[in-house]
Amino acid sequence: MSTDAVVRDQTVIAWLTAAEAAVSDRADYLTQLDAAIGDGDHGINMTRGFAAVGKALAGQGTDVPPGRALILAGKTLVSTVGGASGPLWGSALRAAGRSLGDAETFDGEQLATALDAALGAVVDLGAAAPGDKTMVDALVPAVAALEAGLGDGSDLRAALDAAATAAEEGARATVPLRARKGRASYLGERSVGHEDPGAASTAIVFAALARAVG
Ligand code: ADP
Ligand code: MG
Repeated sequence: MSTDAVVRDQTVIAWLTAAEAAVSDRADYLTQLDAAIGDGDHGINMTRGFAAVGKALAGQGTDVPPGRALILAGKTLVSTVGGASGPLWGSALRAAGRSLGDAETFDGEQLATALDAALGAVVDLGAAAPGDKTMVDALVPAVAALEAGLGDGSDLRAALDAAATAAEEGARATVPLRARKGRASYLGERSVGHEDPGAASTAIVFAALARAVG
């Protein structure tokens, strides 16, 4: 793996700030996706949740360790987002934060381990498997692409770009799937032909991570 991939302590703050802006920019799109196969609140949920994260982090000052920032972000999402995505993303970020611990910086491998822990938390809570048409369909390929990129010796930015691309492809690949978890599963066959909103927002959050590191 590349040894120069040490992430600055501000990277997590930069990521969460970029995610806040990105989900707000794409809120209408996410809401349209959720209106087709859910209840039309995903853009609102993500925007409200990440805005609250931004406020909570601003109240902490700038020298909070990245793992602590992620735990605070996760708790904030759980307590401010009513929809399924709040507890799911909240648990994900909390697990990632716990994985990073109190270290001031982390490298690409530690980031990959943290994101794998985030994926594990989503699966523990929501019990979705790949192919169930959920955010897991974006998270699994994203984490795999990050690990593969680092394993091949790519620098962290390139590996994160590959992860963001994999998340987007994973989200697009949910279109022909029939939802088996969450609200969209109530539609049965009628969920086919639409992109899963949580997978789409996962791709947006990974793109924000790649930009924050680059
Ligand atoms: P709600 O469905 O409660 O309105 P949101 O609209 O904010 O919540 O989020 C919907 C997204 O949550 C779905 O598109 C899907 O990606 C994700 N989701 C729902 N249930 C699960 C689950 N059990 N496991 C993983 N992801 C899920
Ligand atoms: Mg919804």
